[in-house]
Amino acid sequence: MTTPVKLHVPLLDLKPQYKALKAEIDAAILKVCDSQAFILGASTRELEADMAAYCGAKHAVALSSGTDALLIALMALDIGAGDEVITSPYTFFATGGTIARTGARPVWIDIDPVSFNIDVKLLADFLDTQCERVDGVLVNKATGGRVRAIMPVHLYGQAADMPPILALARKHGLRVVEDAAQAIGSAIPGGQRVGTLGDIGCFSFFPTKNLGAFGDAGAVTTNDDALAAKLRMLRVHGMEPKYFHALVGGNFRIDEIQAAVLVIKLKHLEDWHAARQRNAAYYNSAFAAAGLAGTVTTPVALPGYRHIYNQCIIRVPRRDELRAYLGECGVGAEVYYPVPLHMQECFNYLGYKPEDCPESARAARETLALPIFPDLTETQLQHVVDSIARFYGVK
Ligand SMILES: *Cc1c(COP(=O)(O)O)cnc(C)c1O
Repeated sequence: MTTPVKLHVPLLDLKPQYKALKAEIDAAILKVCDSQAFILGASTRELEADMAAYCGAKHAVALSSGTDALLIALMALDIGAGDEVITSPYTFFATGGTIARTGARPVWIDIDPVSFNIDVKLLADFLDTQCERVDGVLVNKATGGRVRAIMPVHLYGQAADMPPILALARKHGLRVVEDAAQAIGSAIPGGQRVGTLGDIGCFSFFPTKNLGAFGDAGAVTTNDDALAAKLRMLRVHGMEPKYFHALVGGNFRIDEIQAAVLVIKLKHLEDWHAARQRNAAYYNSAFAAAGLAGTVTTPVALPGYRHIYNQCIIRVPRRDELRAYLGECGVGAEVYYPVPLHMQECFNYLGYKPEDCPESARAARETLALPIFPDLTETQLQHVVDSIARFYGVK
């Protein structure tokens, strides 16, 4: 390792994207201001139509956040106390947090170390050997809970191994809620996009996602007419008609300013995905050219899967030292995620040990997110690679 050479390469810089669209976005925001119609208006309806078309889903319902998308999806499936929902622990907190908030119990199944998504063999093993059918209900033999749903996470922008997950769900009578917060536009082999594979797809428009709002926002998608109607009711406190409440819902509404911004940005999403894919390809060949192929494990896009690279995750030795060194070189890098959910203090009551999900624990120690946003220059990308090469002494 030699003295750091400095060049500013932030993990994410949203300013170039705003600059390119500023005139159009500012006008759209001002239009909402002029209308003084802030809630569930024309922009929300337009976003929902565009989002449904983009995903290939029959319905899209725009919401307040990705977290609320997960919560409302579970509520729409009547999941609550006594129920269990299977997911992976190597994800953003909202995946497990929303399951717990409904009163249901999260069941953690470890990840596949290559895709970072739920390990389908372990999932099948859990369902086939640790659950039993009692009076038509799938029961977790260890806890006595009713296993109701699988919540696969399409982590970093690549879809989970959905065909076998959907087959297991059918076999065991389970619902599927996709956590597609990081994966808008990604697809499984054959091209079917996330959000249309399970019963409900959940999306986040948090500013750091590939499609980011100017604040918090999210959406759900579904092909089921009855579920779509229920999701729309739950979004406004279960109200239909006005002031008549057949269900207990919440305030899960998007606001018109966010919807107006998202309508404009959605038109550019495919270009931004393509730029992220180019950046990922650049890293792949540049790491190999730098002689780092044996040291740095780059993201694997599985055959036929469409990876949209919300994050570019590498696996490295001496991860924390490398991250500190990159900081000295001007390179932003982040750990997603340092503590898997099965090791979070708030989930101690579930009784999991770190070694229950060893690949999640290992990923939390070894992975690092590199800058991948669309506006990066080749000079910046090469600086990231050169800095890593210097750290490992191969340059
Ligand atoms: C971002 C994210 C969420 C939550 O979305 P918010 O809009 O921030 O509430 C949920 N799950 C995953 C995997 C995420 O990355």
